[in-house]
Amino acid sequence: DTASLTGKELAAAINADSKERAAALTAAGTAPTLALIVANDDPASAWYVNSLRKAAERLGIACERIDLGADASAETIRAELSARSADPATDAIMLQTPLPAGVNLDDVSSAIAAAKDVDGVSPLSLGLLASGLDGFVPATSEAVVELLKHHGVALQGRLVTVVGRSNIVGKPLAQLLLAENATVTVAHSRTADLAAVTTPADIVVAAAGRIGLVTGKHIGDGAVVIDVGTNEAADGGIVGDVEATSVIGKAAALSPVPGGVGPVTTALLMRHVVVAAEKSRA
Ligand code: NAD
Repeated sequence: DTASLTGKELAAAINADSKERAAALTAAGTAPTLALIVANDDPASAWYVNSLRKAAERLGIACERIDLGADASAETIRAELSARSADPATDAIMLQTPLPAGVNLDDVSSAIAAAKDVDGVSPLSLGLLASGLDGFVPATSEAVVELLKHHGVALQGRLVTVVGRSNIVGKPLAQLLLAENATVTVAHSRTADLAAVTTPADIVVAAAGRIGLVTGKHIGDGAVVIDVGTNEAADGGIVGDVEATSVIGKAAALSPVPGGVGPVTTALLMRHVVVAAEKSRA
């Protein structure tokens, strides 16, 4: 039997705590405030921004969407991020992707103050993580580790293979897993033989954004599989990177898409907003 590592309970527990802390901040004067900076007209991004706004609203977090337009220049985006970084009324900043053509994420995200970089995207935040120093960690990576812990999956000394090396998911996740004393392998699009590095792993995390990339033949008997992928399915729904039909029955556990990593990611992002607000008021 393959267990389903759902994220809903964990997300609800995190959210209940954030809601209380947000209410305390509001009672003391000001609600925690998140600025969502958008410079695209991408429907998936619009959907995500909308879901973040709803999540914030449910928790008593004020959320403002700032639309810079799909043709905004790097200078315009940096100026907005710098202004919000200096603005005491803004506790937290999230820059949405995709960015306009020719605008590089690192170039603009370095304008986000580390104390407000709740999704840990700036080069400074990523460097703090790599150095083992305090800072905000990318929420999706943190969600993978929290989901594993919540379901009692041990990390220390275990072989973990992460499929994907983006700055948003794969790389920071590898750092977090190292901090948990796991032995980490990172696979990517140039990996010559994916199955050779995934089948020996105790835990496989799929974060490549490729439907059906990880199948039963990539998974060792009794492994734990976390599916980070959120790909658009032909029917308009979302589907992960793991081919569930061939992995179920072989793996000990698999996280579902949707309902696994996703809700925990959103809950952790909102917790980061509350933490940023608490620190700025302290
Ligand atoms: P990305 O496109 O930036 O990076 C994909 C990574 O996968 C790259 O490092 C690439 O080398 C690797 N890769 C691609 N094809 C591969 C292959 N055939 N074999 C091995 N590795 C391969 O994507 P991302 O931003 O890291 O996101 C990855 C997935 O996670 C996407 O589906 C995205 O939608 C999803 N995601 C989910 C959440 C969530 O909250 N659940 C959050 C962020 C991203």
